[in-house]
Amino acid sequence: MPAPKTPGPPGPDSRKTTAPSPVDAEVREKLHLEILRRTGAYRSDDHFLLPSGHHAPEYIDKALVTTEPTFTEGLGAVIAKHFAPWPSDVVLSTGLGALILAHCVARALPSRPALVYATKGVTGPHRRVTLPDEFQRFVTGGSKVLIVEDLITTGETLRLLIGLVRASGGSVVGIGCLWQRNSKVDLPAEVFSLVTRDFSTYDPQTCPLCRQGRPLNVEFARSEPANEEAPEAFRPRS
Ligand SMILES: [Zn+2]
Repeated sequence: MPAPKTPGPPGPDSRKTTAPSPVDAEVREKLHLEILRRTGAYRSDDHFLLPSGHHAPEYIDKALVTTEPTFTEGLGAVIAKHFAPWPSDVVLSTGLGALILAHCVARALPSRPALVYATKGVTGPHRRVTLPDEFQRFVTGGSKVLIVEDLITTGETLRLLIGLVRASGGSVVGIGCLWQRNSKVDLPAEVFSLVTRDFSTYDPQTCPLCRQGRPLNVEFARSEPANEEAPEAFRPRS
């Protein structure tokens, strides 16, 4: 597999988004998509009922993303290679869901960063992200932090986490993730995603797959954990 040729981030806390050459990006993305398909995490060419009630032709099952250790290590190494020129002191996982990937990224980084994770939850209408007490000394003044997420949907968790790092005096080197499923998400740090693919969802009333008479697959209708970013945040596209 050829090394991905991507221009790196211009520096810590950059606002730029990586813009790899279209051909390289396409080849790279196909490879990673195939890896995710082989774990069973990525399913396509179907007609899924989502927990939100919307319909979609494809689905990514977060729980299955890191079930193949050698694949996870390989994907983690690709993210680490991208960020290696900008040494980080800490790899911060957005939560337990991204922790295995974050471990693989941290393990592959030459700067030998520490690995910590945030915890997320919801209080009333507000999403909440915190750094457990025992990890707070890792993110202080001058800390260079690489954030690792599995899937970016709305980016809300990441925005909160970036705010938390900066409030502690640290800076964000960037965000490494497996899958950005909404390319319009604007985040205040550089995002390097192995797959960037808009996750199309349809209203049942206007769903083209319903119109084609394809049977509805309900196996994922209730599988999205309530405290994770769910496709409910999307406005359906047609
Ligand atoms: Zn449908």
